[in-house]
Amino acid sequence: MATSTSRTKSDTDTTPTTGPSTADAPKEQLHRPLRSDLTRNLLRSLTEIEANGIAQSQAAAANLANRLLLEAHDAGASDIHIEPHQNGSRLRLRIDGIVHDVIHLTKWQAKTIVNQFKAMANLDPIIRFSPKDARTTMPLAGNNSLDLRFAFAPCLNGETVTVRLLDLKRVGRGINELGLSLEQSQRLVERIDTVTGMLLIAGPTGVGKTTTVYALLDRLKNTNSTVITIEDPVEYHVDGITQIQVDEFHHVGFSEGVKATLRLDPDYVVIGEIRDKDSAHSAVSAAVTGRVILSTMHSRDAAGAVSALRNWGLTGHEIAEALSVVVAQRLVRILCPHCRAKSTPTATEKRWLKAMQLPVPSETWRPVGCEECRQFGFTGRTGIFEIWTLDEDDYSQILGHVDERALRRHLASKGHRTLVEDGYSKALTGLTTIDELRSVSGGAFPSQHLPAAPRKRRGRNRATANG
Ligand SMILES: [Zn+2]
Repeated sequence: MATSTSRTKSDTDTTPTTGPSTADAPKEQLHRPLRSDLTRNLLRSLTEIEANGIAQSQAAAANLANRLLLEAHDAGASDIHIEPHQNGSRLRLRIDGIVHDVIHLTKWQAKTIVNQFKAMANLDPIIRFSPKDARTTMPLAGNNSLDLRFAFAPCLNGETVTVRLLDLKRVGRGINELGLSLEQSQRLVERIDTVTGMLLIAGPTGVGKTTTVYALLDRLKNTNSTVITIEDPVEYHVDGITQIQVDEFHHVGFSEGVKATLRLDPDYVVIGEIRDKDSAHSAVSAAVTGRVILSTMHSRDAAGAVSALRNWGLTGHEIAEALSVVVAQRLVRILCPHCRAKSTPTATEKRWLKAMQLPVPSETWRPVGCEECRQFGFTGRTGIFEIWTLDEDDYSQILGHVDERALRRHLASKGHRTLVEDGYSKALTGLTTIDELRSVSGGAFPSQHLPAAPRKRRGRNRATANG
């Protein structure tokens, strides 16, 4: 599903790999998400199915859909998109947050795959004129399984489908695998073990907030505490905790769920997402009863979470009483350690670093591409974080109704590390690139630690000289 953080690379990066041979392709066209033999096999299978007719090819079509799902999973894709246009459909994969074209399908080929997906999802292939979604699982080797979420919708040129692939094994990350520094994870663990109140994970859609929540849950299930979650939808099943699915039809919304949950005597309550006035008020009222409330919300950074809560009608007093920790996060792609290279910062990087009030280093890292990383230059993603554990000073600021910018300045004055600063330190070590950090941190705020003073100083000097 397209998200606010979706990034679409330039044409050179989304070159379709429909041709059987890429040996003659220029260097910039080698960015391909799948092996060329896969795209060749897909095309061959589709041609065979077409030649044999549907009746003889049911099994072949099923086999093809299965193989497509497995290969997409192998390539590290989080989503498969089939997008119809006038002359057929584009099959695309989202890998590490970026959508790549894979193959061009004729109308018939696209219909064959879409119908097979519908069969897997137990949906009627005849119904094409209303949006449908469904979920199923597919077994993988090694006792693992792949959770598949299908979303079908009619569109101008036919029917579009997105399949979200969730590898349950990859999701079950421990708290030390999220990308937190040792100091950050220790601070977070210490806080969650000892405090009451609300712990919020903040950021736009698709930045790994749910993974962080589940990593914390994974830790909590091993302690002597009761954990109950209210989710919409329940993303992954976690043994050892009680998970409640929001069900508006049966009047189980977030607020009803929270009320029912509190009667079940939990130590920790997880509210899937604070997304409106109701869920915000429910979370805060539960947090002041002595439980730990864990939830996610949309916000650009940690200080922005306070403004979001105020916008839902909560008073400074209510927020100060409930809020305990805010973790803001984003995901950055990890540079392939086999091929990354050093070079001097580009003009764009320099401009952005200056705008973010960060020092321009003499050398930065950049992606190259090799066999190990399928020529992407990157392998997987990791989190960058801002962790705000509130103290008495911070509560005074919230009670004093300071605005968001003043709150940020207050945090900076205490040495608080922002999202961009955390990402910057990771880019300097070659874990990611400055350019990657720039592209994921849209809406993030500049570092507040370096004085933005040169202009002022010049002004004063001029004034003195003139005076
Ligand atoms: Zn590489």
